[in-house]
Amino acid sequence: MGEPESSEDAGMRLGEGLDTCKLIEFLPQPTILLDCEGNIVRVNEPMVRLFGQSISEIEGDHWLRLFEHKENLPLTSSWKCLQQTGQPLQLEVSITRPDLSKRVINLRIDTFCTDSERTQYLGCAQDVTITHQLSEAAAENERRLAIMLEVMSEGVVLQDSTGRIMLSNPAAEKILGLTNEQMCGRTSIDPRWRSIREDGSDYPGQEHPAMRSLATGHMLRGEVMGVHKPTGELTWISINSVPLFDGKSTAPYAVVASFSDITELKNGRDETQSRLDSLHLIQIELEMHQRELEEKNVQLRSMADTDVLTGLKNRRCLFERLRAEIALVERNGNPFSLVLFDIDFFKSINDTYGHMAGDDVLKKVAHALQSCARISDFVARYGGEEFAVILPQTDSGQALQAAERMLSEVRRTYCEGKQVTASAGVACCSGSVMSIDALIEAADKALYRAKDLGRNQAVMAD
Ligand code: GH3
Ligand code: MG
Ligand code: MG
Repeated sequence: MGEPESSEDAGMRLGEGLDTCKLIEFLPQPTILLDCEGNIVRVNEPMVRLFGQSISEIEGDHWLRLFEHKENLPLTSSWKCLQQTGQPLQLEVSITRPDLSKRVINLRIDTFCTDSERTQYLGCAQDVTITHQLSEAAAENERRLAIMLEVMSEGVVLQDSTGRIMLSNPAAEKILGLTNEQMCGRTSIDPRWRSIREDGSDYPGQEHPAMRSLATGHMLRGEVMGVHKPTGELTWISINSVPLFDGKSTAPYAVVASFSDITELKNGRDETQSRLDSLHLIQIELEMHQRELEEKNVQLRSMADTDVLTGLKNRRCLFERLRAEIALVERNGNPFSLVLFDIDFFKSINDTYGHMAGDDVLKKVAHALQSCARISDFVARYGGEEFAVILPQTDSGQALQAAERMLSEVRRTYCEGKQVTASAGVACCSGSVMSIDALIEAADKALYRAKDLGRNQAVMAD
């Protein structure tokens, strides 16, 4: 037994004989053995399968022809380099099989055995088509995503698990008034955002939607936040935040926050709200005015109905009431009576004691008549020192009694110690309906007679 052989010696020995050809047949990887010119000496089964050709089509051919393809142009120079310098050739190349399907191969050709007479090369191929396709697809997806982010009108930022911004799109730059460089690295809790809630209160960074999504693992939608641009301008945004999970951990590893600029919408809404508020105020004011107007109307109506001096109903009102009473007589046949009163020698009261004293007497007489009247009776000032009393559902006899009762009350009135008296004319409207004028005329005539008969008495109309 001699000394153990070095692995180099063993390689040399293998390369020397036919054993090498046998050996590559056992290799699981697609492999070819080349002579010093590059002609294929041996190809193994996996390589035959990879190329989709028969052994006879491959063996004896120059290896470069197998890879004749415009995408594989650097092969020739790399091969020359290997031959001249021994530097291994390693390239990703593509092949087109007879069925026109394409494969991508990672090819490495290395010097296998060399001695003074001949050099051999061993080429190993690795089918990386699927990996290649996957990375192509991933690159394509990335390109599409980049385009989408570029053209989106919504701002998008990607934040890592600590809330630090890793990526932003152009819309985010525009909405937030910051460049991608200024944003990247900035966290939600950065005080420079100067974020506020809709009610104007401070919006702490820890409570920003992105941070809440990171903390809870839940998605948030339509969160409204005001942020200040570096210019100081306030921008309102509506934010959605979606946590991202990698499948290994239950905690999100990142969060995507997308947001749209709702400043105009919000200002419009605020303006509409303030318009609504002022409309509401105007409405309240209008209602108050309306109530005041109604009260004034009531006052005016009562003023229009009332005699200012005595507070009794006035002449206009008296005629209205007479019309109503006559209508009732027409319907029911119930009689009513009218009594006209006239203060006796009133002119001399005025003349003796003055107009003011006269006014005072008018008020006292008005009060005397009113105090004797029933609730249903109607007492009015008819003229200067003349009064009228309507007695509903009262016939002439009852009316005469009422008139005398009222005259007695008037007699309790004094002016400067002098008794005040009045005369009365009574007319009754019963069965045969009379006109207002006729009724007044009848009462007036009776009053005139009472004056004639010496005053201070009541006389019934004929
Ligand atoms: P007779 O007994 O015949 O009724 O005599 P008389 O003096 O009462 O009647 P006459 O019609 O001559 O006078 C009525 C007076 O009443 C005349 C007028 O100046 C006065 N008079 C009318 N209205 C008012 C008023 O509002 N205030 C006062 N103080 N006097 C008035
Ligand atoms: Mg008179
Ligand atoms: Mg008089």
